[in-house]
Amino acid sequence: MPEKDYYSVLGVSESAGEDDIRKAFRKLAKEYHPDANRGDKNAEKRFKEISEAYEVLSDKQKRDQYDQLRQARRQGYGAAGGFDPSVFTGGTGRRGASFSFEDLGDLGNLFSDIFSRQPRYGSHAGTSYQPQKGEEMTFSVSIPFELAVRGGKTTINVPRSEACQRCKGSGAEPGTKPKPCPSCKGSGSVSVSQGAFAFSRPCPQCLGQGNINTSPCTACGGDGSVRRTRTLSVNIPRGIHDGAKIRLAGQGEAGIAGGPPGDLYLLVRVQPHREFERRGNDVYSSVKIDMVEAALGTRVPVNTLDGTVTLTVPAGTQPGSTLRLKGRGVKTAGGHAGHHYVKVEVSVPKTLSEKQKQLLKDFASARS
Ligand SMILES: [Zn+2]
Ligand SMILES: [Zn+2]
Repeated sequence: MPEKDYYSVLGVSESAGEDDIRKAFRKLAKEYHPDANRGDKNAEKRFKEISEAYEVLSDKQKRDQYDQLRQARRQGYGAAGGFDPSVFTGGTGRRGASFSFEDLGDLGNLFSDIFSRQPRYGSHAGTSYQPQKGEEMTFSVSIPFELAVRGGKTTINVPRSEACQRCKGSGAEPGTKPKPCPSCKGSGSVSVSQGAFAFSRPCPQCLGQGNINTSPCTACGGDGSVRRTRTLSVNIPRGIHDGAKIRLAGQGEAGIAGGPPGDLYLLVRVQPHREFERRGNDVYSSVKIDMVEAALGTRVPVNTLDGTVTLTVPAGTQPGSTLRLKGRGVKTAGGHAGHHYVKVEVSVPKTLSEKQKQLLKDFASARS
């Protein structure tokens, strides 16, 4: 399916500014205007192309959509998402340079293809006005170290859009009906003259909808949706890791056209602990003993996830060595248990009494 290149039709680059586009159009339009080329079929065709190109490229919104479409075509997709059908309402006044789908040929088909999809959720290729599952949401939650280790319940406050209950999502105050737009008399497009030409544009007052909401819903101000914060109770499985995701089925954005709500994914961030460091399911901490204890061996109390336990430090333990408390690490919901590793820091006394000095001297001479 060939794509019309509006940029080359006007002879401008893809990065051309509004002024460049307008200048290029004026120059070409003068040259190929039907009045100046009576009976010339080629000039007429060319003039139509120029007008069409200008109609799209001179309108910021249409140009953005056109660029997106080109981008999508280049990437090999049939269509790009996020198009607002209200923008391309087609031409009404066919005089001069009006714009319509038919004039676009293949590209026009592509546009109408897109427009048959959900207005607000056009990114779901191949779907139409059928009920759709709501959008997925990801929400990040920070939990204390201990909660991640032991598991348990936590509550989260999730802000999300919900259909306004008062107007059922229509945006109109219940009991009122939208009125035909006075600017375009309900057609959704207006004729704008520029020099000798008339253009059809989406109506700025009703944004191409054809009617206006004269009594906006008092609850949502006419948006049709409200932002609501919901408090959810969440079960945190025992041993959950930092960065893990919990799926909460049906707690995402509201469904479309009666479809079910989307899912909510909870990204779990585990807060650091002041004493323990966790790596996988293993826990690391350190303990301080003095050089005599290291040399002779000792038993010291050590904090673990299970409370305080007694660590046996064997005689001759070297500074910086690591001792293992088997199975004292994180116990996961799956039944795995990590270990607790204790790094032994050995301190050397900074001051010694005369008696201690003498004993160490005796120790040194006994060694040699
Ligand atoms: Zn409302
Ligand atoms: Zn209007």
